[in-house]
Amino acid sequence: MRRFIAAFFILLGTITGSGQATTIQRPKLVVGIVVDQMRWDYLYRYYDRFGNDGFKRLLSGGFSCDNTFINYIPSYTAVGHSTIFSGSVPSLDGIAGNDWTEQLTGKRLYCTDDSTVQSVGAANATDGKMSPRNLWVSTITDELRLATNFRSKVVGVSLKDRASILPAGHLATAAFWLDDASGHFISSTYYMEQLPDWANKFNDQNRISKLIEKGWNTLYPLNTYKQSDPDAEAYEGLYPGETSSVFPHDLKTAYTKSKASFRSTPFGNTLTLEFAKTALDAYQLGKGTATDFLTINCASTDYVGHQYGINAIETEDTYLRLDKDLAAFFRSLDATIGKGQWLVFLTADHGAAHAIGFMQQHRLLADAWNDKPLTDSLNRILTAKFGTEKLVRYIMNYQVNFDLNKIAAANLDYDAIKKISVEFLQKQPGISFAVDVAHIGEAAIPQPLKAMIINGYNSKRSGAVQIILNPGWFESYSKTGTTHGTWNPYDTHIPLIWYGWKIKPGKSNREVFMTDIAATLAALLHIQMPNGCIGHVIEEITR
Ligand SMILES: [Zn+2]
Repeated sequence: MRRFIAAFFILLGTITGSGQATTIQRPKLVVGIVVDQMRWDYLYRYYDRFGNDGFKRLLSGGFSCDNTFINYIPSYTAVGHSTIFSGSVPSLDGIAGNDWTEQLTGKRLYCTDDSTVQSVGAANATDGKMSPRNLWVSTITDELRLATNFRSKVVGVSLKDRASILPAGHLATAAFWLDDASGHFISSTYYMEQLPDWANKFNDQNRISKLIEKGWNTLYPLNTYKQSDPDAEAYEGLYPGETSSVFPHDLKTAYTKSKASFRSTPFGNTLTLEFAKTALDAYQLGKGTATDFLTINCASTDYVGHQYGINAIETEDTYLRLDKDLAAFFRSLDATIGKGQWLVFLTADHGAAHAIGFMQQHRLLADAWNDKPLTDSLNRILTAKFGTEKLVRYIMNYQVNFDLNKIAAANLDYDAIKKISVEFLQKQPGISFAVDVAHIGEAAIPQPLKAMIINGYNSKRSGAVQIILNPGWFESYSKTGTTHGTWNPYDTHIPLIWYGWKIKPGKSNREVFMTDIAATLAALLHIQMPNGCIGHVIEEITR
């Protein structure tokens, strides 16, 4: 009889649809981690030095999409975060750079500036006047809130305002970022009237002074950093007060001279994850009746990368320390949410180029590009031809921004102005292509770049002529460190690992794009895609 009952229930299970659950299955919590400026190859560059519970826990127990690319330019932080979380691109979502020029008025705008809101908790009243209102599309976090009739909670955390605000979306429960002047995590009246008590308590601990107390020395003996150059290279930047770039770094002096210098230490990531954990507990994320979403940007990898470049011990050590911080964070998720109950994806907003000095030292072609003299020359040529001065406002985000008001007022031939500009720029050293985006169909540019230019071009916010530099070249005014922003693989090949709830271990080398992340999350969560999403579901993840 017992055997009969067992067989009956097995049969019943089959009838109800091979294990179809009676309610929609979702993780308790989704954590989106964006490691700022993390190139995909760092997963393997530092692999042998990682512990088992950080990056390696994700790689061995999760699914890695090893060929994930950014499919637009410019590859900057704000654009990366808006695309990861919306599945959209600048042409549609409006986030055309960290800063851009409103083409119709000529007004420069920072991506999350919002004069209609006030700072909450900031030392300087202007620092927190931020919101997601310049983002024209919904995010996956917005869609989760809509899908659960607002029962889901969404919280964003980063040192950078833009990397907290854009991922958390328009309907966020809260977003927090670091105010340098006070050393506190702050917010804006877009989200709340005052900081919650728990955030004030966290801020009152003054964690920064404790984190930098002992300075920065390497985790391991210096001679074990085989993936990096010797300690003092000419292309490494300095902290305020330093005369040479060697360990140990005196962070207390640096912080006294410039509070912002804290960002360029690995401890910025430690602080971010500590605050994220505190927020997770305070909002009881993962404990409610609907799936919650925590977005975290680890920004210090970017600040350190900018200061030192890729081949520096400082950069290697920052990733080894982040690995430890992530391991601790994952353990805390196991403890509070439960193993297998949380879903994490880890990716990056962009990569970075090797420092120019490093490249040249090794006979690889690279150079710094400065747009200022080009802007002046171009304006002289255009003035001679059209009789109007300063038709080019400036070159920004590798795009030529024209003064549309002047062109309209003098009734000038805009197409002719752009044509002359393209012909001039195309002749300059270091420029592979200059293209009038409105006529890109006629341009002889490789197809992948063409698609990236079109995706990145927002007619109301981007300059009309796009400049593509030679590989290895980038806009730079400093002899040290590095940056990002171009189409090249070093800037656009990013990590993407999925781990946890219902994710089967594995990896794929199939080419996927940053825009596919939000589409895949929508499929995993059984919710609508964001309203500007152009990505596709990565089916390897949803099987
Ligand atoms: Zn970034």
